[in-house]
Amino acid sequence: MDYYDQHVHTDFSFDSDEKMAAYLKLAGDNFVSTEHLDFKDPDDKDGDDLFDYDAYSREIHRLEEDTGKHIFKGVEIGYFAGREKDIKSYLKKHDFDIKLLSFHRGPDYDFDDSMVSQMDPLKVADQYYRLMWKGINAFHDADVLAHFDYGVRQLNLTSGMFETTAGVLLANILKLAVRYNMAFELNTTSMYKYHNIGLYDYALEIYKQLGGKRFTIGSDAHDTTQYMRNYENAVDMLKAHDIHHVNVYRKNAMIIVPLDDVDEGIKY
Ligand SMILES: [Zn+2]
Repeated sequence: MDYYDQHVHTDFSFDSDEKMAAYLKLAGDNFVSTEHLDFKDPDDKDGDDLFDYDAYSREIHRLEEDTGKHIFKGVEIGYFAGREKDIKSYLKKHDFDIKLLSFHRGPDYDFDDSMVSQMDPLKVADQYYRLMWKGINAFHDADVLAHFDYGVRQLNLTSGMFETTAGVLLANILKLAVRYNMAFELNTTSMYKYHNIGLYDYALEIYKQLGGKRFTIGSDAHDTTQYMRNYENAVDMLKAHDIHHVNVYRKNAMIIVPLDDVDEGIKY
């Protein structure tokens, strides 16, 4: 089986206008979208960013009939401290093949806001990884830890700087991820758009040394031009760390896709 992108947004997510049908033209036999589920501060004037699960399921059903492809259901859980109960109750009521766990927002801002670049990097990193520690303790039954570096995207940290500011916190977080069989996501938006390849080299090796064996590659596409973006580069990074498989998720199943088979497919 071929690998397929494990982190994709369609217009069911608040920040994407792309139709699922458009992705399906590019996809092989299998496709998954991972839509945003963002509970926020109850006082936030914009309200929570949830998606219409029933409409999502209907569209998947319609497109499966139409195209004969398998379409899987995914969610990107944006953890928000204080809304754990709401997140849990939503997840209890809705079925997904894959659950990504993400950290986007602190109480006052989204960590990807450009204003973060003006803040004290030590403070930002400390705040972000404390949030992640809290969240991963509450939601370690998710399948994948998505873009572990989201909170420091605006800081341009080298891996050395990262290690001094957040190394200990991240090692503890990855230990927990390994203990609960959560996959490590190679987020190609982080790696190639935000130039955090160095941080991925660093964190991937720690996850692996701690015994982590599950890896996903996700483009975090919000439109079709980004689908599977830089996939081959991420494969090269895995191989450089002597990792020769990636994982894909189905409800109650985790599939190992060997990378060497993929190579042979390309060679011959
Ligand atoms: Zn995403």
